[in-house]
Amino acid sequence: MPPWPTMSVVRVRRAPPPLLPITVTARVELSPRMLRLSIEGEVVRGLVVPDPAASVRLLVPTSGTTDLVIPTWNGNEFLLPDGSRPALRTFTPLHIDGAHMELEIVRHPGGAVSTWAETATQGAEAALSGPGSGYEIDPDATRFVLLGDETALPAIRNLLEVLPEHTEIEVHIEVLDSEAELELPSHRRSTIAWHVADRQSDQSPLVGVVSDWSSVDRETRIWAGGEASTMQAIRNHLHQTLGVDRDQTSIRGYWKPPR
Ligand SMILES: Cc1cc2nc3c(=O)[nH]c(=O)nc-3n(C[C@H](O)[C@H](O)[C@H](O)COP(=O)(O)OP(=O)(O)OC[C@H]3O[C@@H](n4cnc5c(N)ncnc54)[C@H](O)[C@@H]3O)c2cc1C
Repeated sequence: MPPWPTMSVVRVRRAPPPLLPITVTARVELSPRMLRLSIEGEVVRGLVVPDPAASVRLLVPTSGTTDLVIPTWNGNEFLLPDGSRPALRTFTPLHIDGAHMELEIVRHPGGAVSTWAETATQGAEAALSGPGSGYEIDPDATRFVLLGDETALPAIRNLLEVLPEHTEIEVHIEVLDSEAELELPSHRRSTIAWHVADRQSDQSPLVGVVSDWSSVDRETRIWAGGEASTMQAIRNHLHQTLGVDRDQTSIRGYWKPPR
C-alpha cells in the first residue's frame, strides 16, 4: 500500500439534453427495408438544427413492455431503474416543421427501435433528445462525394436537399438488395449509384468505390456514414493511402454488427 491516500478517477460526462415525450402521428412503409415515422412533440419545436445530417436520440419502450420508462443519467450513460440499458438509439432528424418531424428507420431483425417502429401506431409514445451536430457545408467546395449504407439514406436525403446547386455531387449507396432503393431528392448536378452488397464478400462495395480512386482533388469534400468497420476502411484508404486532408472528410460509423 502506498503511504498516500489513493484516488480512483471517475470520469463524469456532461449530461446530454433531456429525453422529452413525443408521439407517433403516422407510419409509412417507404420500402421493404425502410419505415418513415412522423412524430410530434414540444421537444421538436425547441430543436435547433442548423446543419444537415444531424442526429437525435429516440427512446422507445424496452422490448416486451409498452410503458415508456425515462432513464436517468449516471454521469456516463443513461440507465433504467433496474440498471439495464434503455432502448435509446440515434437517428437523423428530417423535415422539422414546428412540433413535427420525420424519422426514417431501417427495418432489420432484432433491432429494438426497428422492431418497435414496425408496430408503432398513431399515438404511440416515445421520447426524444437532441440535437447532435450535423455536417457543416464548406462554401468553397465545388464537388461533394456522399457514401453511405441504408442507415445513411436519411442523411443523404437531407444533404441532397441542401447542398448548393452549383456543386457537383456524386452519391454511392450500399443496399442489401435492390428493394431498398428509394427515390431521392433531385439535384441538378448529382449522380446516384446504388451498389447491392455481395453477401459472400466481407468487403463493402463502398470500400471498392474509394479503392478505385487514385487521388482526390483539394476542392472535393467527402461525407460518409454507415457500418463502422466499412467507415474505418474508407478513412484508412483516403487518409493513409491517398493522403487526403482530414478537413476534406467527414466519416462516421453509424452502427456495428453483432460480434
Ligand atoms: C449520427 C447517426 C445517425 C443515424 N441515422 C439513422 C437513421 O436516420 N436511420 C436509421 O435507420 N439508422 C440511423 N443510424 C443508425 C442507428 O442508430 C443504428 O442502426 C441503431 O443500432 C438502430 O437501432 P435498433 O434499435 O433498430 O437496433 P439495435 O437494437 O441497436 O441493434 C440490434 C442488432 O442489430 C444490429 N444492427 C443495428 N443496425 C443495423 C442495421 N442497420 N442493419 C443490420 N443490423 C443492424 C446491431 O449490431 C445489433 O446486433 C444513425 C446512427 C448515427 C450515429
